[in-house]
Parts: sequence; C-alpha cells; structure tokens
Amino acid sequence: MTAPRPVRCLIIGAGPAGYSAAIYAARALLDPVMIAGIQPGGQLTITTDVENYPGFAEVIQGPWLMEQMQAQAEHVGTEIVSDVVVEADLSIRPFRIRCDSGAEFLAETVIISTGAQAKWLGLESEQKFRGFGVSACATCDGFFYRGKEVVVIGGGNTAVEEALFLTNFASKVTLIHRRDELRAERILQERLFASPKIQTIWDSAVEEVVGADDPLGVSGVRIRNIRTGETRQVACDGVFIAIGHAPASELFQGQLEMDGSGYLKVKPGTASTAIAGVYAAGDVTDDVYRQAVTAAGMGCMAALEAVRFLAEEEHRAQHRPLSHAEAEKIGAW
Ligand code: NAP
Repeated sequence: MTAPRPVRCLIIGAGPAGYSAAIYAARALLDPVMIAGIQPGGQLTITTDVENYPGFAEVIQGPWLMEQMQAQAEHVGTEIVSDVVVEADLSIRPFRIRCDSGAEFLAETVIISTGAQAKWLGLESEQKFRGFGVSACATCDGFFYRGKEVVVIGGGNTAVEEALFLTNFASKVTLIHRRDELRAERILQERLFASPKIQTIWDSAVEEVVGADDPLGVSGVRIRNIRTGETRQVACDGVFIAIGHAPASELFQGQLEMDGSGYLKVKPGTASTAIAGVYAAGDVTDDVYRQAVTAAGMGCMAALEAVRFLAEEEHRAQHRPLSHAEAEKIGAW
C-alpha cells in the first residue's frame, strides 16, 4: 500500500465552486489536488442552455462551461484526480482523505464543494420504475420520449426548464405542481405558459407511478388534488421528477455542523466551517442562492481563506515547532 500523499489544499468535488477554488488556490501556489467525484462538472453537465452566467452574451451550454472551468483550473496548475472520496477524517490536521481507489491524502486544508443531487418523491413505485420511465434528468433521458407524452413534477426553475426542454421531443408535456403558483423565475414561467405543448395541473401531488411489470414501463401517474382530495390518473410514458436537490454532505456527518436538511454550516459571510482549515462552498452549503455564479464566488472565498490560513500558520510556525503529540499522531497514520 502506498503511503498517504501530503497535499496543501485538497478540493473535493468538481463543480463551479470546486473549479473556482482550484483556480484561486493554484494561482496562490498551493498546488491543489481536486478529487473530481462521480459526476465531474456537477449539475451543469446535465443542463443545456445557460444564459445567466456572466460573461457570455450568447446562450452557452452547461457541459461546455464546465469544460472551460476544468481547462482553466488545469492550466493554472491544479491536479485533477478521477476518484471518489469515501472517507474523510477531519478530527485532526492534516486531514486524512481516503478515496475509492485506495489512494489516501493528508491534506493541510480541505475545500468541500461536493454540491447537491436530485431529490426523489420517496414513493415505492417511483423507485420501481427508475430508469424504466422515471427519471430526474430530462437532458439525459429526454431523447427516449420522442413523440410520447411525459409529465414533470415540481414548480421551480428545474421543473420549468425540464418541461421546456422536453417539448423538443415529447408530443405533450404536463407539469404537475403541488401548489397553484410556480417558484420558477418569471422569464421561465412566461416561456412555459406560451408553449402550446405544455399543460399545467395545479394543487396536485403524485400518489403513485403506475405501469406494467413485463416489460417494466410507465403508463401514468395517479395524482390527488390536495384541495379537494379527488384522485385521478394522468396517462403518460415518462415521469420526470424535478423537485429540488439535497446536499451531498453524508461524508461529513458527525464531523461538521449541518442544518436540518444536511447543508454544511459555515460562519456567516465566510466559507469557513467550525474546523480550522476546512471550508465549504457551493450547493453543499447554500440552500438559498444555488446558482453556478454564487457557487463559483464561494469557491473563490474558500480558496482565499485557505491561503490566508496557511500563510498565518506558516508565520506562527516560525516561532513554534510541532508538539511531540501532534507529530506522533500524524506519524501514526
Ligand atoms: P427548488 O427551487 O427548490 O424547487 C423545487 C420545487 O419542487 C418546488 O416548486 C417545490 O414545491 C417542489 N417540491 C419539492 N418537494 C416536493 C415534493 N415532495 N413533492 C412535490 N413537489 C415538491 O429546486 P430547483 O428547481 O431544482 O432549483 C434549485 C436551485 O437551482 C434554485 O435556486 C434555482 O433557482 C436554481 N436553478 C437555476 C436555474 C437557472 O438559473 N437557469 C436552473 C435550474 C435551477 P413548492 O414550490 O411548493 O415548495
């Protein structure tokens, strides 16, 4: 087994927050190493049009934007490792980070930018038909519904964007929302209501995804009007769940403070967690803004804080050597 590799700055996760942190850390000569995770590029890799990331007058594509961020991070000196972190011990510095491949790192600072992933309704039937008519990604699976009827569940930006995107393939798109008002941006709502292919069902919750067992496939959803209690079935070939995201913070359970939904807590106005040298940025800590541009800004903050922390520590170290206990603990790994 190879010895754990010491690094000055380890970045976990390769979305806008991680890449921005990497760019700033690399330019501060911290030689950052980024563990890219299961979905390098993050949620933007399963998005199509991006028209609110500053700097581009033309509409750009999410995957393209992430390729640019990756190229820029590498260009300034970030090492990007294709691996997945399976264990993080933040109880002592340097922090021990173990990856799926078995590789281990001893990191002086850690920037957590693991993002968030799609939430599911939690129905048994939803799980049964996942991959067989139930999806959480229109960009990935929309193509399979050419000339077919689909429903989209949710009322936020994601749901409306997915519904609009699906009109490129499906003959009919029905948006089902649990309230009578969308939370999506006005401009998206206007496009939704203007589309002749999209119909909206308000005040309704999905009770069950229905379909056949052999071959496994969806034929509709049973919905309940939450005002009247009336239930009915809506026929469709595909169901797209677009009800928001949950932070990817499980690795840090019991080690870092989280809110009730699992978002990592940072000191207000900073990217610093309660552990000195550990920072969090982007969707894993932000349940308010959740934009690529805000994630990128937080990544920048995290890197600048790591740089300052290491510089201050180096300064202090000139007057104080490592204690015996600290040295021994590190050696024990
Ligand atoms: P979101 O804004 O949290 O919206 C989730 C939607 O799903 C809400 O309408 C919510 O209903 C509904 N919902 C939640 N749980 C549900 C359940 N169990 N059953 C039925 N419906 C449920 O999530 P999002 O749309 O994924 O967006 C996340 C963030 O990313 C937002 O900040 C958004 O602005 C951003 N985003 C931006 C863009 C863009 O700028 N182009 C694109 C996509 C996402 P209620 O409304 O009743 O709560």
